[in-house]
Amino acid sequence: MSRASARLSAAATRLPASAPTDAHTVAAHADKGHRLARVPMTALSRRRSVWGCAEGFRMVKDSARKKAARAYAQETGQSYTTAARHTAHRQADGGVSAYQVHIGLVQALRQAGWPVEYEDFPEHVEYRSYPGPARVTVGRADQVTSFGGDDDPDPDDPALLDLSRAPRVEMAAPLVATGYEVWAEIGGDRPVGDVIARLDGLLAEGRATAVARAVNDAGCAVCGDAYPSAHLLAAAGDDRLRVCPAWAFDGDIFVTGEDATGYVAYQIDRLPDSDLSTPAGWAGPAALLACAAPGGLGERLHQQWRDAGTVYLPSQSWSDPCLIWIWLPPGDRRPAPLARFGPGACLAAVVAALDKALPDLRQRVRDEQAENWREAAGIYDDADDQDPPDGFVEQVWPAAVAYAVSMTTQAAERPRHRPPLQHLPGSFDSLQDHLRLLDVALDIGDVESTLGVGIDIITQALDP
Ligand SMILES: [Zn+2]
Repeated sequence: MSRASARLSAAATRLPASAPTDAHTVAAHADKGHRLARVPMTALSRRRSVWGCAEGFRMVKDSARKKAARAYAQETGQSYTTAARHTAHRQADGGVSAYQVHIGLVQALRQAGWPVEYEDFPEHVEYRSYPGPARVTVGRADQVTSFGGDDDPDPDDPALLDLSRAPRVEMAAPLVATGYEVWAEIGGDRPVGDVIARLDGLLAEGRATAVARAVNDAGCAVCGDAYPSAHLLAAAGDDRLRVCPAWAFDGDIFVTGEDATGYVAYQIDRLPDSDLSTPAGWAGPAALLACAAPGGLGERLHQQWRDAGTVYLPSQSWSDPCLIWIWLPPGDRRPAPLARFGPGACLAAVVAALDKALPDLRQRVRDEQAENWREAAGIYDDADDQDPPDGFVEQVWPAAVAYAVSMTTQAAERPRHRPPLQHLPGSFDSLQDHLRLLDVALDIGDVESTLGVGIDIITQALDP
């Protein structure tokens, strides 16, 4: 079971007090997407008997399938399991294979910069994937009248389904449909570029609507900027001090308790599951913690969260910050180096796009750090120059990118609010406490300088 479906499963079994109850998440979509929205995943291994009538035929077909798999295994020298998978998904009678559409879509989405988790087994006659904050299914659920049975038919089973009819691709966001969501479907026989364009459009539209609907009914405990209360997080471990992303590591809030970092990670992780309007800027603190932490942060958080009594699983992105979802500035506010992406992209793709378009960015940061060092040391005479130490921390560079890009997005999405980057610099004073809790061995001064100078230079470079 993938992280995303495990998280859905957890949502079905336990609804923590922090589950969103915002007024803006009014359920208005009972008529569509309700099947995609089915949260309980207990049917994964459940067996019932709706398909009983087809059983005899199915057994014949299964044995034909096994024969084909055995023959293929012998022919190619592959294991029976591998051969069975291959023969099961061969396109039958010229029809379109749901499995092939599913896998092809996952690969194309990843090439387009999306972070994607996916299942490689069908459930309820569909394959599932989770690109960014969206959920996508590919299958032939439209050809059955109910779910369950003694087995789910494979979406490419020619004995039970009409494979001449194209599989259906359904897409929706956010991951858990508890309120406002967007939903669409498109034929699986359409070119993959069309499917991705549909997902891009759906998510961009959903994001814009959700952000416009969000009600700013609370204020950041430090800077006072207005946000929806659910979007302010207890970054320092104290629920009475809920702050905006720009001030997550501010020195005015004292980190309390050994679980503060695990707790803020939990809040950041849960935030977008059921809400399409969450502040883009939270990608910054998320990337900073994930990039700075020694390897295996996800495992560590898992243990910590379990000890704290939650059954939620940490996102894979805590151990692999490349996968962090970054909302990108919409429409004409989009900087040119990020033009090729949809409404968002994974951090690795964003970093790579900047490297390609602006290959000297890191060096510019290094140069300015050196300049700052000389000024601090009172060295103004070039002839007298000493070599400044290299304060650039490669490990947190992606975090500087995440801050600069996601907060540029936030400024574009909330034009009537103070742009978060305008008051970000100098607000990393409690970062040291978090890094200590994570056993980070990096030099805190170098980390802060790479972030501060880096965010500044990236932001200027992206200003269209
Ligand atoms: Zn604030």
